Amino acid sequence: MKKTVLMIVALAAGVAAMVAHGMVSGRHARPEKSVSRMPQATADTSGFTALASETKTLGLGDVKVTWIQDRAATQSASLFPQAPASLIDSLGLRGGIPSSMSVFLVESKGMRILFDTGLGGKDSRLLHLLSLMGLTPADISFIYLTHLHGDHIGGLMQGGRAVFPTAQVFVAKQEFRGWMRMPAEKKAQVEKMAKAYRLNLHFFDFGDYLPGDVKTIDASGHTPGHTAFRVGDLLIVGDIIHGAALQLADLDLCPTYDMEPAEARAARKRILQYARMNNLVVAGMHLPAPGFMKF
Ligand SMILES: [Zn+2]
Repeated sequence: MKKTVLMIVALAAGVAAMVAHGMVSGRHARPEKSVSRMPQATADTSGFTALASETKTLGLGDVKVTWIQDRAATQSASLFPQAPASLIDSLGLRGGIPSSMSVFLVESKGMRILFDTGLGGKDSRLLHLLSLMGLTPADISFIYLTHLHGDHIGGLMQGGRAVFPTAQVFVAKQEFRGWMRMPAEKKAQVEKMAKAYRLNLHFFDFGDYLPGDVKTIDASGHTPGHTAFRVGDLLIVGDIIHGAALQLADLDLCPTYDMEPAEARAARKRILQYARMNNLVVAGMHLPAPGFMKF
């Protein structure tokens, strides 16, 4: 049984909560401490600046990353049908699992890159929060997509038109091909987006480097070509985790959204192990505020 120290970098009112969390590999094993009862401790908050409660900026050497909460969210525990009720109860998660729908803005090598775009729609906070940072869609040069679910590409379109018409949009070739093989109603949103961005849409193979010195990493399983991105000491993991408090207690647990559960489970373990080995800050689109964690 492996024991790992998990540190969730969580800033609330300028104070970081640091959690020593016994992460265990057994399916029904329980963590030593419930995340819901996490002790508050002081931690180094240097490098973080807050613009609004829905954003948090972290400086990592030459890379600057800002968490942008497109909207707050709580995941229902029923999203994880294989999770034993006893585990959910012991973690205090019966009422829901703290989560978010988030995007990340990265500045690297003088380029401004948006990772995913949130759900879009009238409740989306993305454009408002960008404007608070003094940015308009025209200031975003690149958009890298972790995958093509609606809560990640919705913000690309508004009223049938491209929101970021001057951005170069990148997605894994394997992801796009996978979606094109799906039934018409399932892929309709992807097709609309691809049409609106047809002049600016680019495809990559896993292992390719994208502008800004961003490495693309195979994290498929959640979707056919789900992608993680490494920029310096930052690892953007997309939907590797949906319900952090539950899944970090048992990495085998998959939400019903994982299209290929066995593959998604393997990817989750592989990607988080990679982050740990390389001492990377993990940024996840559904991590609770402020969207970062470190193992
Ligand atoms: Zn998602």
